[in-house]
Amino acid sequence: MTTFQNFIGGKWQSTQSGHTFPNYNPATGELLGEFPLSDHADIDAAVVAARAAFARWRLVPAPKRGEILYRVGELMTRHKEELARTMTQEMGKVLKETRGDVQEGIDMAYYMGGEGRRLFGYTVPVELPNKTGMAMRDPVGIVACITPWNFPIAIPTWKMFPALIAGNTIVLKPAEDTPLSALRLVELLYEAGLPEGVVNIVFGPGRPTGEVLIHHPEVNVISFTGSTETGRHVAVEAAKSLKRVSLEMGGKNAVMVMDDADLDLAVEGILWSAYGTTGQRCTACSRVLVHRAVREALLEKLVPRIEALRLGNGLDEQTDVGPIINAKQLAKVHSYTEVGKAEGATLVTGGAVAQDGPLAKGYFYRPTLFSNVQPSMRIAQEEIFGPTLSVITIDSLDEAIAINNGTKYGLSSAIYTQNINNVQCATRDVTTGILYINSGTTGAEIQFPFGGTRGTGNGHREAGLAGLDVFTEWKVVYTDYSGKLQKAQIDE
Ligand code: NAD
Repeated sequence: MTTFQNFIGGKWQSTQSGHTFPNYNPATGELLGEFPLSDHADIDAAVVAARAAFARWRLVPAPKRGEILYRVGELMTRHKEELARTMTQEMGKVLKETRGDVQEGIDMAYYMGGEGRRLFGYTVPVELPNKTGMAMRDPVGIVACITPWNFPIAIPTWKMFPALIAGNTIVLKPAEDTPLSALRLVELLYEAGLPEGVVNIVFGPGRPTGEVLIHHPEVNVISFTGSTETGRHVAVEAAKSLKRVSLEMGGKNAVMVMDDADLDLAVEGILWSAYGTTGQRCTACSRVLVHRAVREALLEKLVPRIEALRLGNGLDEQTDVGPIINAKQLAKVHSYTEVGKAEGATLVTGGAVAQDGPLAKGYFYRPTLFSNVQPSMRIAQEEIFGPTLSVITIDSLDEAIAINNGTKYGLSSAIYTQNINNVQCATRDVTTGILYINSGTTGAEIQFPFGGTRGTGNGHREAGLAGLDVFTEWKVVYTDYSGKLQKAQIDE
């Protein structure tokens, strides 16, 4: 059994307390290693290392920073299969999805590497003669990246690569369920030539590790992805010292199926969005809003497909649906089945822990479908974060959009229709950060802004050009070459 260490200031280090925590495979129960349970002293050492490195890294020309990210992209490509297998062992999703997770990181490395030669500021005319003005982006300083377990490589890259290209340095605290994938990523960053101290990784749970990090006075930016409950706490605490905070949080995403939809296409999109990653995506579809006229036809096609999904170890290429991340989350998913039944929804399929054969060793849950769900029910309002889907009947597009928009979250929506008028109305009236036409609720590409409204976010976006904003400070430089005092807004 391996005991892993933090990586701080370019060196592997154990915790000063000597405490560790275990990392298990959720499909088999196998112990994958022990990781440092980091505390005040470790976080402090990581922040001090990041601060020292910032003084040098911000002066490295951005195109050179970009060249390192290109090398990271190459190394991730070379190690893609190994990274994907590590991730599947650590958090359970099937190999084709963990390969996609790594690919998202590769895409981000190349995209942000290219930003090294752009990082556009702008100049515009000024109102006085013999004077210029230019707006440019500066790095902010030390960025704390706090990440969840469901995209163990992609999400750290969404935060770290824009932060790095802009000249910031980083302390990364990955989720306690997926430390190994993040550690492998950081190893590749250094293999690509990142100077020591520019990225530091500390392991540990939300408390104490994350909690100490968000309170550290030297941290300037917190980039957080996780549950809305934790994100709210992070924002409140960070506000006390005026830290900049970007929050990417939960979702309760819907697929709308209109009466003219291609139902076979809709079934494919619903299956992939609702049960891919075992429903443990922020963009997972957990509500289907189906027009009454096609409801029975859709269910007739959908239910047998759900029942045919193969549960198992994600390393087996035949598996469709892997395990739930841990025992606590398994219990939470099952508790929502009880809630749905008690609320009067009809349990159509699933609704039970799967324990046959090798599944008994892991945390498996039968893909679950409820019908006759009312929009106000808890199963239609709260994020379950598991393979549980609610079917709600609608009679019009207006009703579908109102229900779609009627939760405290606002990440992703989808509509299946052949009617251009429906498409245009949905495009205008849906209030989520992402809308898919004739495709499921998942599948974002890194060159566009990613994030959501209401309880999903706090107004920031990751990825695309917008992904740079939280990691940069605008600086405006005026140069007056008139040789005299010129007064803006005063001089005629
Ligand atoms: P979580 O909130 O439990 O944990 C997220 C991270 O925060 C972990 O690293 C955790 O250790 C840390 N943390 C927990 N308590 C903390 C505290 N008091 N102070 C500082 N850090 C703390 O979430 P999770 O279970 O890891 O992830 C699932 C959630 O993430 C879901 O709600 C999902 O929708 C959301 N998510 C959102 C996006 C998005 O981009 N919107 C993407 C993926 C996941």
